[in-house]
Amino acid sequence: MANLNIDSKEQRTFDAIVIGSGISGGWSAKELTERGLKTLILERGRDVKHNIDYPTTNMMPWEFKHRGDLTDQEKKDNPVISRCYAFREDAKHFFVKDKEHPYVQDKPFDWIRGYQVGGKSLLWARQTQRWSDFDFEGPARDGFAVDWPIRYKEIAPWYSHVEKFAGISGNKDGLAELPDGEFLPAMEMTCVEKYFSEEVKKNYKNRHVIIGRAAHITDPQPIHIQQGRAQCQQRSLCQRGCPFGGYFSSNSSTLPWAAKTGNLTLRPFSVVHSIIYDEAKGKASGVKVIDANTKEEVEYYAPIIFINAAALNTNLILLNSISNRFPNGLGNDNGLLGKYVAFHNYRARISGEYDGFKDFKTEGRRPNGGYIPRFRNVQKQETDFLRGYAAGFSAGRGSHSDTDGFGTTLKENLLHPELGSWYVGSHMMGETIPKETNFVALDKTLKDEWGIPQLKINVGYDDNDEKMTADYIQQMTEMFEKAGFTNIQSNDSKAAPGLDIHEMGGVRMGNDPKTSLLNKWNQLHACKNVFVTDGASMTSTSTQNPSLTYMAFSARAVDYAVSQSKKKEL
Ligand SMILES: Cc1cc2nc3c(=O)[nH]c(=O)nc-3n(C[C@H](O)[C@H](O)[C@H](O)COP(=O)(O)OP(=O)(O)OC[C@H]3O[C@@H](n4cnc5c(N)ncnc54)[C@H](O)[C@@H]3O)c2cc1C
Ligand code: SF4
Repeated sequence: MANLNIDSKEQRTFDAIVIGSGISGGWSAKELTERGLKTLILERGRDVKHNIDYPTTNMMPWEFKHRGDLTDQEKKDNPVISRCYAFREDAKHFFVKDKEHPYVQDKPFDWIRGYQVGGKSLLWARQTQRWSDFDFEGPARDGFAVDWPIRYKEIAPWYSHVEKFAGISGNKDGLAELPDGEFLPAMEMTCVEKYFSEEVKKNYKNRHVIIGRAAHITDPQPIHIQQGRAQCQQRSLCQRGCPFGGYFSSNSSTLPWAAKTGNLTLRPFSVVHSIIYDEAKGKASGVKVIDANTKEEVEYYAPIIFINAAALNTNLILLNSISNRFPNGLGNDNGLLGKYVAFHNYRARISGEYDGFKDFKTEGRRPNGGYIPRFRNVQKQETDFLRGYAAGFSAGRGSHSDTDGFGTTLKENLLHPELGSWYVGSHMMGETIPKETNFVALDKTLKDEWGIPQLKINVGYDDNDEKMTADYIQQMTEMFEKAGFTNIQSNDSKAAPGLDIHEMGGVRMGNDPKTSLLNKWNQLHACKNVFVTDGASMTSTSTQNPSLTYMAFSARAVDYAVSQSKKKEL
């Protein structure tokens, strides 16, 4: 007699399903479980438990076989991922290797991914700046993409909500283009960073150099201690996973918090294939999963579905969710799904030296840097390109020991390192314009190991990006020269898009279902019980790092989804 599990379907039915356990999925799950919903997170990668699964976190440099570097073979095998600065010996186990999950580059695109519980939240650089109305009003004002369906005041309380929980350090700088948040004490700027800040203030109206706002606990509050997190020790080894929970990750923060409610089920090794659409009910009924190891197909059911697989994978899942009602992908009535993808332009850098402050040096580490908010085309259009760029800025003074020789000479050299010059450096963070011609689509023939079509990426720079890059180099050179920096060298790496790791769009928000996929609540216009709150939903990219905004949108959308569900309007 067959041994049938008649409760199986019931056991696979939840109040809500979240796809992906990274930054946005962790927030969706936290908010859903706190509201009492039995929530299933489907994560394609392996489990990574906070503190338990950080194998390199306490290793000393000499304990690494290659002293932290990649081998030549690893670089040869991974031309894409080895271009990411964080893909090094201590953190390489958290990155997708080039051969593991192939994709089709119609144009070169460095797709940087972390497939595990926690996603890229383990690896990110933790820069967390709010967007302002100069960002949300940008497309309408400058006439590109479509108008954002919200303004800053609607998202501001949700920024506060996520900042207090995550722990963001920063100063209240009082800048309209970079709204202040709920900050823990800021990290300190070095004396040359402070000097540059003063020089810039002296020489320019409306240009500012501030300390970055970063997701590090500089002064633990009761809410952080309740999460089991402690003060950041400024080790700057964050990408290994932090034993103190000093920086925000899903693993240290939102996921254990959601688990504590008793309402969370986490299923790792679950590759989401597609969303199941119920033609009779006119809404999604669940999710089709392929078990990553056994390749078994399993279905899970829920009346609320959040897609948080990171921007491009969210596009892939929706494009692959085919039904009679939606033959071109779920919610894709207007044919725009996968289109208007944009990213950040991180191509240019500039460096120099400063001859002053010889009585000072830097000591220890700081997992953060200086930040220059966008100053181009903010109040009015002033250049021949649209939008602008923010920039990182850091200044430090290193020391050097002569390690040649033996015995006493060597010991003496090591004990008395020579101080070098002050080095200053900046990198560009440019906004790109979402265009229909920058898109992702499913490859018609190539499939992955789980039978899912591979993603084809067709995303490139345009003339606007070239002009903006040249302007960054010209303006920063001028700012460096005015501050008396010398040996100024600039570089446009011409790197392919992707290394910024801020890809966005394809499932954009908007007011009009004819020109957008999601409404102002991150809800599919055409399938009301499916929500997208990761980068795929972004109408435009701003210049600020985006993850804080994904967190705020996730929390806000859950609040809306649960209230609609209570009113039986989903
Ligand atoms: C080195 C580095 C530095 C960065 N620095 C910053 C920074 O300073 N500030 C900032 O704002 N951002 C930064 N980022 C970007 C940031 O990490 C991402 O914006 C953020 O993680 C996106 O959150 P997410 O939830 O959309 O995706 P992720 O965190 O990537 O999580 C997505 C999850 O979905 C899972 N998934 C994907 N497909 C499927 C599927 N089919 N089925 C089931 N699960 C699936 C993945 O395995 C993953 O766990 C950085 C990233 C890197 C790598
Ligand atoms: S710098 Fe802070 S957050 Fe990063 S690893 Fe060290 S203690 Fe943890």
